[in-house]
Amino acid sequence: MSDLHIVKWDACLKVIKDNLPLQAFKTWFAPIVPTKLENDVLTIQVPSHFFYEWLEEHYVGLLRKVIKKELGQNGRLEYSIIMENNSSNSSPHTLKLPATNRGALKNAPVSMPYSASEPQIRNPFIIPGLKKVHVDSNLNPSYSFENFVEGDCNRLAKSAGYAVAKKPGGTAFNPLLIYGGVGLGKTHLAHAIGIEIKNQYPNKTVLYVGSEKFAHQFIDAIKNGTTNDFIHFYQMMDVLIIDDVQFFAGKEKTQDVFFHIFNHLHQNGKQIILTSDKPPVEMQQMEQRLLSRFKWGLSADLQTPDLETRIAILEKKMYGNGIDLPSDVVEYLAYSINTNIREMEGALTSLIAQASLNRKAITLELAKQMIDKFVKNTAREVSIEYIQKVVCDYFDLEMELLKSKTRKREVVQARQIAMYFAKKMTKSSLANIGSHCGGKDHATVLHACRTVNNLAETDKQFKVYLSDLEKRLAMH
Ligand code: ADP
Ligand code: MG
Repeated sequence: MSDLHIVKWDACLKVIKDNLPLQAFKTWFAPIVPTKLENDVLTIQVPSHFFYEWLEEHYVGLLRKVIKKELGQNGRLEYSIIMENNSSNSSPHTLKLPATNRGALKNAPVSMPYSASEPQIRNPFIIPGLKKVHVDSNLNPSYSFENFVEGDCNRLAKSAGYAVAKKPGGTAFNPLLIYGGVGLGKTHLAHAIGIEIKNQYPNKTVLYVGSEKFAHQFIDAIKNGTTNDFIHFYQMMDVLIIDDVQFFAGKEKTQDVFFHIFNHLHQNGKQIILTSDKPPVEMQQMEQRLLSRFKWGLSADLQTPDLETRIAILEKKMYGNGIDLPSDVVEYLAYSINTNIREMEGALTSLIAQASLNRKAITLELAKQMIDKFVKNTAREVSIEYIQKVVCDYFDLEMELLKSKTRKREVVQARQIAMYFAKKMTKSSLANIGSHCGGKDHATVLHACRTVNNLAETDKQFKVYLSDLEKRLAMH
């Protein structure tokens, strides 16, 4: 039973062989692998998109005949194509396409808005009655939920994303707009949602596309007179993920076409997921009617991850790559690069590369040298957390205590010193410094700074503390 597809395809091959020159048979039919037979649909795997097109162009008549002969009137053929994917993620994707007939094609020539460098999905089969098209979703399998570390900074966005993935189009979060600064995980999360939807609902058509690519495709479509095809293609999605919609700013025509696509999808209960580097209220040069639609669903922001989350992200990344680093190195990385996860990952990668090229052990020393070079150009400022860490190490205190509300004398003093350096060395507001140091308000921080200044003038020992700490902090 389970081998029926092989038996049937063998039978087809016999007929085909009789009808073709041997060379043609060897070239175009020998490499085909039958993969399954379900509900009269025989799926065959072909090595490339080109191969598929060639078969459709030259042998569709013959194929149709033999399929009818071997599988009966309802028999159909579906291709699965091993994607020619030369990107780094080389897990074999397959793209399934229903076989069709060239005659029908001529009447409905739809060219898909994809550039040639992409895995091809120039799939022209938007013909009523034909099986639904399978589109390559452009999802990066490593950007999964499993690889996405949860923290306070992203909890809302992550759980909203997860809810959407479980019930695409069926929650109030439509559209789901994920916004936040550079390198904070917007793209990762957008992919994760798409991947999860594909896992749960393999038949849903999911498409991830960057907004710039969308805009370019649209311009091409205008040039080629295929805007209708462009619109139809996008309106066909069950789940449309558009990354970095802020790039639509000022592009009126693109906004216009997106508006129509958006409406169509939304009205039909399809899920829309958008990302942006800012919330809707701050998007300039975006049509009001689009902005108001962005607010229909849920806007969830990604914030800068706290220290623990940053460490967890680094550890996950290392674990995924089979790398083990001393924990002081990991902490140092997480302490020093505190705004952008992409940069932090970049630093980790350079560090590993450095160490293996020079055959050096990865030590804290090496990490420090490397980080200094790595972030030289970005005029890095120390983070409050780094200051806290140095102060805690110096006074041999638990970081937890410093961040707590406790009023134990030695903690209070260390906390005040941390506040003082935070005010001096970072651009953080007093309120922000206070919130990092036991949830104090700005007046408390101001008071701490004054106290430290006073003590520095009157207390010799205290002055020594300060200058020691200053040296340590300067070394970071
Ligand atoms: P954005 O699109 O917001 O600029 P990305 O999604 O490209 O940021 O994320 C930058 C890098 O940081 C990616 O390698 C991503 O995997 C990683 N990253 C971001 N957030 C997380 C997280 N919560 N857990 C694990 N990795 C993350
Ligand atoms: Mg991004």
